[in-house]
Amino acid sequence: MQFETGLAFARQLDRDDPLARFRNAFNFPRRSDGSAEIYLCGNSLGLQPKRARDTVTEELDKWAALGVKGHFSGEHPWMPYHEFLAESSAALVGAGADEVVVMNSLTTNLHLMMVTFYQPTSERFKIVIEDHAFPSDHYAVESQLRFHGIDPAEGMLLLKPREGEELVRREDIDALIREQGDSIALMLLPGVQYYTGQWWNIADITRSAQARGITVGFDLAHAVGNVPLQLHDWQVDFACWCSYKYLNSGPGAVGGCFVHRRHASNTALPRFAGWWGHDKESRFRMENRFQPIPTAEGWQLSNPPILSLAAIRASLDIFQEAGGMVPLREKSEKLTAYLQFLLEQHASEFINIITPLDPQQRGCQLSLCCDARHLSGRAVHQRLEDHGVTCDWREPNVIRIAPVPLYNSFEDVHRFVEILAAACNE
Ligand SMILES: *Cc1c(COP(=O)(O)O)cnc(C)c1O
Repeated sequence: MQFETGLAFARQLDRDDPLARFRNAFNFPRRSDGSAEIYLCGNSLGLQPKRARDTVTEELDKWAALGVKGHFSGEHPWMPYHEFLAESSAALVGAGADEVVVMNSLTTNLHLMMVTFYQPTSERFKIVIEDHAFPSDHYAVESQLRFHGIDPAEGMLLLKPREGEELVRREDIDALIREQGDSIALMLLPGVQYYTGQWWNIADITRSAQARGITVGFDLAHAVGNVPLQLHDWQVDFACWCSYKYLNSGPGAVGGCFVHRRHASNTALPRFAGWWGHDKESRFRMENRFQPIPTAEGWQLSNPPILSLAAIRASLDIFQEAGGMVPLREKSEKLTAYLQFLLEQHASEFINIITPLDPQQRGCQLSLCCDARHLSGRAVHQRLEDHGVTCDWREPNVIRIAPVPLYNSFEDVHRFVEILAAACNE
C-alpha cells in the first residue's frame, strides 16, 4: 500500500480500519490536562480492557455472597475457572485446548518446563539461549544448570549476533546446531526478541534442532497476542508466556504454558507436582497417589488466583470478538509499516531501526536507536514522555515503540512521529 504523510491520510486509514471500534474497549491513561496519552507501550504492560472491572467484580461479588460455594456456583464456578480460558488461549498460540494451561507466572513456568524437559546426561547437557536473553530467562537457565551440578560456563551456550550487528542470523543458529548439536539438550529461545523485536522462525528452528535430537522450548512473552502462532503444527515441545503484555490482562497476571500433546499425554514424564495437576475425578479423595491429568493441566500446582483469571477472561474475549490473530496481524503489519514509513520520511536522519525491516521477521514493535543532534537517546525519550507519549526506554540506547492493533490508531502513530521529529530537530 502507498502511504501518505498527512494527518488526513492517517484519519482515513482509521476510518477504513475494521478493528477501529476495539479502541473503545480499553481505558487509556490520561495526561494532567485530561487528554489521552499516546500509548505505545503495550509490549510492556497492555492497557486495561474496560470490561475487566466487571469480570473481576463479578468474582468479588460472588465471593461476598457465596463464600466457599463460589467454587461450584454461578456462570463461572471457580473450580474449573481456568478451563474457561483454555480454548481462547489455545486459539492464540495455534494449539489444542488440551495443550494449553493458564497458570503461574512466566518464570515459574519456565522452571517447571525445564524440570520436565531438561534431563541432562554426560554427553548431552547444554542449554542454548541467546546472549541478550531477558534476564529472568538467563537466571532461570543458569540456576537449572547449577541445580544439576553443571557449571554454566560449560553448560550454557549463548547465541550472539555477529560483531557490529544487532540481530542473530539464521545461519549462525544452524552452525551452532551442526557443530555442537550432539551435546545440546535444550534450546530455549524467544518467539519475538524483547529488545530488537526480531520474530524468529519458530517452525524452522524447531525442525532443525529436533532433527539433531534437541528439545525446543520458546518464551513467547513478546509473541503471544502479537504474531500468529501454530505451536502444535510446528511441533514445538513446550512454550511459556505472560499475559500482561500484548494480552492486556493486568500487572503480574497469571501466565500461560503450552505442552505439545505428544508430551502432555505422557503421564510418566518427570515433573514437580501439585494437587491441581492431579486427576480431577479423584482429586478430593485425598489418597496421595499422584495421577497427573494427561493434558497440559497436569503441570498445575495450585488452585489459581481467580481474580487474575477473571481479568484474563475479559481480555481473551476481546481477542475472540476481534476475530483472532488473522485480522489483528493484518492490521498490525499495516500499522507498523506505516510507522516505518513515517520514520523514514521524517526522522531517518536521527533514527536507526534495529528491528528487521522484513514484516515476516517482526511483530508490531520497532526498536529505535537514536542519534539526535543535541539530545541523547534517553533525553529524546524524556521529551516524548513530556509530550504525552508513553513508550519504553531500554539501555543502552533503544526506544521501543509498539503500535498495538487492538487499540492503537494510525493517528496515534502519526502524532508520535510528529513529536519525535520535533524533539530530534530541537
Ligand atoms: C516480560 C518477560 C519476562 C517476565 O517474567 P515474569 O516471570 O512474568 O516476571 C520474562 N522473560 C521475557 C522474555 C519477558 O519478555
